[in-house]
Amino acid sequence: MQLFNKIQKFIFLFLIIQVISLSPVPESSINVIIYDKNKYISMYDLTYILDIHNSFDIITGRGKLFFRGAVAVYQTGFSVMLVNGKLIKSDYPVIRKKGELLLPDLFIRKIINEFYPGYEISEKQGSFFIRKKISPDKPDINDKTDYPKGSSIPSSTKDRISFIIIDPGHGGKDPGAIGKGGLKEKWITLQISKHVEKYLSPRLKNVKIKLTRNTDKFIELEERTKIANRILKKNENGLFISIHVNASILSKISGFETYFLSQNPSNEEARTTAALENNVIILEKNKRKNKNYNDVEHVEAIMLNTQILKESSMLADFIQKNMDRNISKSKSKGVKKADFYVLRGSLMPAVLVEVGFISNKTEANRLKQYDYQKKIAKGIGEGIINFIKEYNKNI
Ligand SMILES: [Zn+2]
Repeated sequence: MQLFNKIQKFIFLFLIIQVISLSPVPESSINVIIYDKNKYISMYDLTYILDIHNSFDIITGRGKLFFRGAVAVYQTGFSVMLVNGKLIKSDYPVIRKKGELLLPDLFIRKIINEFYPGYEISEKQGSFFIRKKISPDKPDINDKTDYPKGSSIPSSTKDRISFIIIDPGHGGKDPGAIGKGGLKEKWITLQISKHVEKYLSPRLKNVKIKLTRNTDKFIELEERTKIANRILKKNENGLFISIHVNASILSKISGFETYFLSQNPSNEEARTTAALENNVIILEKNKRKNKNYNDVEHVEAIMLNTQILKESSMLADFIQKNMDRNISKSKSKGVKKADFYVLRGSLMPAVLVEVGFISNKTEANRLKQYDYQKKIAKGIGEGIINFIKEYNKNI
């Protein structure tokens, strides 16, 4: 009886080893799923066939794929994926239908091409075929050699800037900072944003310019970057510029400054400004969504892309310098780093401009004036154009 048990165990173990060695299979086919005329692959099929580990958080809609020493971060509703810190863009987003995660076929093609060099993917009659390349000297799929991490994935910076999102801070039930006589931040930010649009439109003919709001309406912080990320497509790159007015309990404080996202604010004042702008979250109804903002993982995913951070800092420099030239009457407080929620979800270079202090009498008076608003807008616009020139040099 004991011997029989041993044999049984042995056979069982043998079968398990067989199953393990079959995965990943040398040739497999995966159904092409068509949704909204777009081609998708089921996450279930992908993880099964390529031995990829997937962790997905239903609440945040965010997930990570682990394979061959690489990490890929994706989010449902977003048409981008970060693979080892490099951005891959599709023309349509990752979606979840009836509990099943569907990935745009481009993501799978890129992953196969970059990380499974011994394999190729082809498409035939409603299926994708993943098979070993015939050439004998190509590395095997089970070869665990470390590939340079994401180095061969084309960087997002190779594409031209084709759209600009101008985000007038606050709006609707959220007035933003309020100055003497009831002057509201939401009104100044909308005025300046419209001026920026007017300045840029005739000068950047091939670039789409879009405002997150054209009227006095309330938009949740998360929704603002989502608007931008929705436009982000495979061959397009964009910029995100959020416009705000600052406030301080010390009425003598004045000046303008430009921020880019960082988890380490440059100083206490930068931290306070960020806290002030982030306050709007209490006005947002959806409590579950609010939890997302505190999710460190999300920031980590965004921060993986150091290229975006570098470009954001460069964009902030250009804007601040050009504002300084145009509104020399006011004090430049320089470029700073701060953790703004509105910039967090951005998958493109993003900055937040604080055009001045509504709590300072002189500055508030200037901010009300049409001509002064136009000068600020010109400064921001010139900064954007100069940034694009510099950016295009590297294409
Ligand atoms: Zn604000």
